[in-house]
Amino acid sequence: MFEYAPAPESRDIVDIRPSYGLFINGEWVDSLGDARDKTINPASEEVLAEFAHANEADVDRAVAAARKAYDSVWGRLPGRERAKYLFRIARVVQERARELAVLESLDNGKPIRESRDVDLPLVAAHFFYYAGWADKLEHAGLGPAPRPLGVAAQVIPWNFPLLMLAWKIAPALACGNTVVLKPAETTPLTALAFAEICRQADLPPGVVNIVTGAGDTGQALVNHPDVDKVAFTGSTEVGRLIARSVAGSRKRVTLELGGKAANIVFEDAALDQAVEGVVNGIFFNQGHVCCAGSRLLVQESIEAELLAALKRRLSTLRMGDPLDKNTDIGAINSAAQLAKIRELSEAGEREGAERWSPSCPIPEKGFWFPPTLFTGVAQSHRIAREEIFGPVLSVLTFRTPAEAVEKANNTPYGLSAGVWTEKGSRILWMADRLRAGVVWANTFNRFDPASPFGGYKESGYGREGGRHGLEAYLDVRPM
Ligand code: NAD
Repeated sequence: MFEYAPAPESRDIVDIRPSYGLFINGEWVDSLGDARDKTINPASEEVLAEFAHANEADVDRAVAAARKAYDSVWGRLPGRERAKYLFRIARVVQERARELAVLESLDNGKPIRESRDVDLPLVAAHFFYYAGWADKLEHAGLGPAPRPLGVAAQVIPWNFPLLMLAWKIAPALACGNTVVLKPAETTPLTALAFAEICRQADLPPGVVNIVTGAGDTGQALVNHPDVDKVAFTGSTEVGRLIARSVAGSRKRVTLELGGKAANIVFEDAALDQAVEGVVNGIFFNQGHVCCAGSRLLVQESIEAELLAALKRRLSTLRMGDPLDKNTDIGAINSAAQLAKIRELSEAGEREGAERWSPSCPIPEKGFWFPPTLFTGVAQSHRIAREEIFGPVLSVLTFRTPAEAVEKANNTPYGLSAGVWTEKGSRILWMADRLRAGVVWANTFNRFDPASPFGGYKESGYGREGGRHGLEAYLDVRPM
C-alpha cells in the first residue's frame, strides 16, 4: 500500500523580521508611542516577532494618509486602472502563496493543508474576482456611476487573518476607497507581509495602510472622525460596542459577527457524506470559524448509527504540528481562546451532557484541544447556546423537519446552517425557514468570492462577497 509520509513544510521559506513597524503611506514607520506587542507560534509558544501597538496618533497618521491617497489618486482613478493593481496583487499573492501559507500556519496554528489549499487560493480568488468588478461598476445595476465612500476603517479577527483581509481590502479598493486595516493582535504577520505585497504591486502610497495593535487601536480607528466606512469582523460583543460608537455619525457600517450554526442531518442523508460534512463543519480550522456547524441536529432514528460513524472518523484525525501536511487539527490560536473552550466544555459536563474525545496525544508545548463531542445536550445548556469557537460539537436530536427548524433557529445568531438529505423538496422547505444568511445543502463551509456572505440577527448586518459586497463600499445613486 502507498505510504504517504511527507516532510513537514519548512519554516525556512518564510522571512520573519524580529520587529515590525506600521505601514503608513507606503512606508514602514515607527509608532509614535513606545508600546510593542509580541506574536507567538501557538503550536510551540515560541515568539515569532515583535510589532508596534499603534496609538491614537498613529491611527490619525494612517487615516490622514488614506484620505490624501483617496483625494489625490485612488478616488479619481478610472476603474480599469484600479483593476490593474488588483490583478497585480492577486498574482503576487499566487506567486508567494506557499510562503504566505507557512506564515499563516505559524502565526495562527492552522494546519498547512488548510492554509495552502483553502485560505491562500481564496485570498487570490477574492482579488481576481473584485479586480474584475472594478471597471464594470457603472453597468452592474447599481445606478449611474456609483461613488466610493472614501476612507474605510477595517478591523479583522485572527481565525482567517489573510482571508479576512482579502474579504475587506479587495472590494474596498475595487470600488475606489482607500483603507486603514487593523489585524488581530495574535495574528499580524500575514497582514504585515501583505503590506510588502502592496509595494511589490506598486500600489500608490496611502491606498492601503496597516496599523497593528489591540482593541484600543481598533477603537481609535473606528472612532476616527475622518473615517467614512467601518467594516468589522469579530465577536458580537465588540460588534455591539462598535455599532453604539458609530451610531449617529456619518459612517456606514458592516458587521460580520459570531455564529452557532446547526448542521441538520435527516435519516435519508448519504451517511458517509454527512459524516464528512459534519467533521469539516466543526473541526476545520479547529472550529475557529464564525459559521462552524457547532450544533449537530440529527434525526432521532439515525442518531446511534451517525454517532458511531462520527466517532470512527474522529479517531482517524491527527492533531499536531501545523506545518505537517498530514495534520488535520492544528493548535488553538491563543491561551485565552483555549481557556474559553475549556471553560465552556467544563460547563457542558457540569450541566449533564456526556463528553467524548478520541484518544489523542497532546503535545507538551503550545495550546491544544482534542476534537470533542457532547451528546445528551439540551437546548438550555451553554454549549448549545454560546459560541465556543473551538473543536467542540454539541449533538441534539429531532424527530420532524418542523422540530429541526425550530431547534436550529433557537439561537440569537443567524449566520449559517447545513441540511443533509437526499430529498430536494425538503432542502427548499428547510432553506425557506432557516433564519441564517447562508444555508448549505449536502455540503458545508463552502466559500466562493462570487457568493455573498453575512448574518441574520446577532450575527451582524451587511454582506461581503459577490455583487452585494460592492454595495458596502459604494454610494449608490439611482436617478
Ligand atoms: P474580537 O471581537 O475579540 O476581535 C476582533 C478584532 O476587533 C480584533 O482585531 C480586535 O483587536 C478588535 N477589537 C477588539 N475590541 C475592539 C473595540 N472595542 N473596538 C474596535 N476593535 C476592537 O474577536 P476575535 O476573538 O478576534 O474573533 C472571533 C470572533 O469573530 C468570533 O465571534 C467569530 O464568530 C467572529 N468572526 C466572524 C466572522 C464573520 O464573517 N461573521 C468571520 C470570522 C470571525
